[in-house]
Amino acid sequence: MADDSIAVVDLDRCQPDRCSYECKNYCPPNRTGKECITLRGEEADQGQPDQIHISEEICLGETCGICVEKCPFDAIEIINLPQELQDDPVHRYGENAFSLYGLPAPQEGQVTGILGPNGIGKTTAVRILEGELQPNLGRDEAVDWDDVLEAYRGTELQDYIADVRDGEVTVARKPQYVDQIPESFDGNTRELLERTDERDALDSLVERLEIGPVMDQAIDDLSGGELQRVALAATLARDTDFYFLDEVTPYLDIGQRVTAARLIRELAEEEDRSMLVVEHDLAILDLLADTLHVAYGEPGAYGVITSPKSVRNGINEYLSGYLDNENMRIRQDPIEFEEHAPRTATHGDVLVDYPDLTKSYGDGEFTLEIEGGEIHRNEVLGIVGPNGIGKSTFAKLLTGNLEPTAGDADLDLDISYKPQYVTIDQHMRVDAFLSSITDQFGSSYWNTEIAQPLQLERIMEQNLSDLSGGERQRVAIAACLSDSADLYLLDEPSAHLDVEQRVQATSAIRRYAEQQDATVMVIDHDIYTIDLLADRLMVFEGEPAMHGRASEPQPMREGMNDFLSNLEITFRRDERTSRPRINKPESQLDREQKREGEYYYS
Ligand code: ADP
Ligand code: ADP
Ligand code: SF4
Repeated sequence: MADDSIAVVDLDRCQPDRCSYECKNYCPPNRTGKECITLRGEEADQGQPDQIHISEEICLGETCGICVEKCPFDAIEIINLPQELQDDPVHRYGENAFSLYGLPAPQEGQVTGILGPNGIGKTTAVRILEGELQPNLGRDEAVDWDDVLEAYRGTELQDYIADVRDGEVTVARKPQYVDQIPESFDGNTRELLERTDERDALDSLVERLEIGPVMDQAIDDLSGGELQRVALAATLARDTDFYFLDEVTPYLDIGQRVTAARLIRELAEEEDRSMLVVEHDLAILDLLADTLHVAYGEPGAYGVITSPKSVRNGINEYLSGYLDNENMRIRQDPIEFEEHAPRTATHGDVLVDYPDLTKSYGDGEFTLEIEGGEIHRNEVLGIVGPNGIGKSTFAKLLTGNLEPTAGDADLDLDISYKPQYVTIDQHMRVDAFLSSITDQFGSSYWNTEIAQPLQLERIMEQNLSDLSGGERQRVAIAACLSDSADLYLLDEPSAHLDVEQRVQATSAIRRYAEQQDATVMVIDHDIYTIDLLADRLMVFEGEPAMHGRASEPQPMREGMNDFLSNLEITFRRDERTSRPRINKPESQLDREQKREGEYYYS
């Protein structure tokens, strides 16, 4: 076939015991007697039907694609690689498997970011840079590190790869899914952290990340936000050349995100370490990284990691959907932000008019005061504020799961609720789970508005308990929106979604609100997600774990000003794309905007 095509067979999906090899029977070269689709021969001696292999030499390429259509399990992808892609892969996991093109280049004293969807090879790249995975340069035979070095001679990676070859690179790594840490560690926070204190930096990390109060708590009992900060401290306390941080923001509030970004930058700048960060919160990535590699391709089939770009250009190009140097369109439509005209309040009917409410826990250890207000039918109401300030408590008051201490919250509303920590761990298939929630399951409306934007098609046959964090999140959002209710309440829908999925989930939620006349409330800490989603804002402030106050829903400008003035963070607009960027504290713009009281839409 054309040199620039690849065939990828997902062996987890290829189930020859449940089909009759339609791919093989219909493949045009096979029908003329050629051996394009053949059997692997791996299962033959076990009496099992054998999985398929596709010859990339013989296959006619994407324009044929008959096998892709015929396979009932979506196991096959035939892809024309972009012509602009001149290089050989750095690694391919075997024939008909995922291939990775390009590697990020960590630099001493710098934070290098990677921006791109999940499944595009970021972890593969890091395993290579760690020396854990020896790349094969896409060849059938194994290559040794000297060949790899030869392939990268004259590039910014040459010295780094020489060090990997000589076993001289030491690495500390923060995993993506912190929720899994309790499964592999049985003890309390102090025990976990003390094992990692190689730089004598633990005390300061514990203080800046506000871990003190949970030092003697069992790891098992920590919340997601606490686990995230403990995992970050454990990684940064190590004494290594290279630090790899796979998503630092899930479950952290904005203040904590900014602190995490500053700690990572300081370690790079003050101690000359190389930091590599994968991050999907664009405002934080912008603040955090010195240079940026964009990753694009077809998740699960191939991934390309570009040469480094400036962070500003990298994010701008990513949002615009077009990579300039690579001459590559990665998305049809640009992602755009409104600069001057924040959406004004919707003029829908009032769904609910709630009075002032108070809720205290125990002997008043925590008290929340809520200013009464109106929620409009058909609006998306954003809810912002630090962790531990009472946002979930407010949600539970609305659902009737909690009784207020003062005020009458008998709201008589049917609420569909997606909690922050998604616990849908049953042994049940995704399709069975979702069809138990809605009669609409499988209808063309449901497929277009829910399944497609949330990319559910490919995981319908999987078990809930086998899903990754991002997949679980998408199923939970779908389940929440599919229920019939007066009010849809989503707590941190952006967690574990990659940037692309955030944008798609955001537009699915907005369209759902508009078309179904639904009212949606969204709690989130990703400022870009809130910007793209919300019509109005409800701002929580106070002292976390002590007392919280909730404002009535406000127009976006007033809400953002309230929220960001509590945090003392201002945003400017990127000249080219108008996207919001966090100002350097005490910069001229920062001071000017604070004086004028314009923190976001300046
Ligand atoms: P990311 O970190 O961007 O989410 P990964 O590097 O983890 O992506 O994975 C990229 C692709 O490589 C995935 O489709 C995954 O299934 C595939 N892959 C990862 N490890 C292996 C392996 N050992 N053998 C075959 N395929 C693999
Ligand atoms: P947020 O959603 O903003 O993170 P929450 O509403 O979950 O905040 O919690 C606010 C405060 O109330 C926290 O200090 C939390 O520990 C405390 N809290 C939450 N639920 C209970 C409860 N059932 N009993 C006692 N304290 C609670
Ligand atoms: Fe055969 Fe290739 Fe066509 Fe698939 S795409 S049916 S392997 S020629």
